[in-house]
Amino acid sequence: MKIFEVLQWGERRLKEAEVENSRWDADLLLSFDLGWRREQLYLERETVLSDEQWKHYQSLIARRSAREPLQYILRNQEFMGLSFYVDERVLIPRADSEILIEKLLEFRKSSAKAEIRIADLCTGSGALAVAIAHFWTEAFVIGTDLSSAALEVARYNAQQNKAQVEWREGDFFEPIRGERWDWIVTNPPYIPEKEHRLLAPEIFKEPEMALVGAENGLIFYRRLAEEAASLLKPEGRILMEIGWDQGQAVQELFQKQGFRTQVFRDYGGRDRVVYAEFSMR
Ligand code: GLN
Repeated sequence: MKIFEVLQWGERRLKEAEVENSRWDADLLLSFDLGWRREQLYLERETVLSDEQWKHYQSLIARRSAREPLQYILRNQEFMGLSFYVDERVLIPRADSEILIEKLLEFRKSSAKAEIRIADLCTGSGALAVAIAHFWTEAFVIGTDLSSAALEVARYNAQQNKAQVEWREGDFFEPIRGERWDWIVTNPPYIPEKEHRLLAPEIFKEPEMALVGAENGLIFYRRLAEEAASLLKPEGRILMEIGWDQGQAVQELFQKQGFRTQVFRDYGGRDRVVYAEFSMR
């Protein structure tokens, strides 16, 4: 079959499986498989695939039709302009999380201190920690996770992006206790159990422990609010990703513990990041 016919076939198969951007995915899977840039598919639309190439492409389309996320098949997701390896061990970085990094880097401008210590809790693929270490080179950055499998991916991503990050394994705040931090950043599991069931089939291929949180998705924020006083320097601050409807609840948890808070929206205009600092400063 010729390339343009193969792409039509792939698009049709994906559409039947109700994959959202069927043409886009059909293209990316073929260009990835051939090791080409996407434009080359159009320059060589009449080229005939070898039997082996055609067979292999069919296997990729079968995986995507079974609603395996495109990024797991491509083993890649871009975040903050950096390239991240991803597979079933980690949540795929989301564009909406970039807003957290952008806000952090705005604070960087006003921060004069020499040694800034930043902890990224529930780091997963390492997207936040690696991006922070990449853009804020003087900072000491660590990433923590309960999953040693996720930390293997994070460590690899730091190497690939030449970022200096220290990785520590452990639950909640165990890996950072006994030290004080200028910044705690986190994108914890915040999906309420009952909402998880309603999400797109692709999300079920992602680790549930990276997505679903107890107490209506609020457990991590509640515990962080209660313990932050012993984890932060007096001028320490927190940036955390939240679900679009959790802004009010998360702010209240922190205000109850004496924090001043603020909410930032994502590119889609929904609440996405809560900022917290001690109000007694
Ligand atoms: N933003 C992710 C989603 O919508 C959830 C990430 C998380 O739970 N930390 O799937």
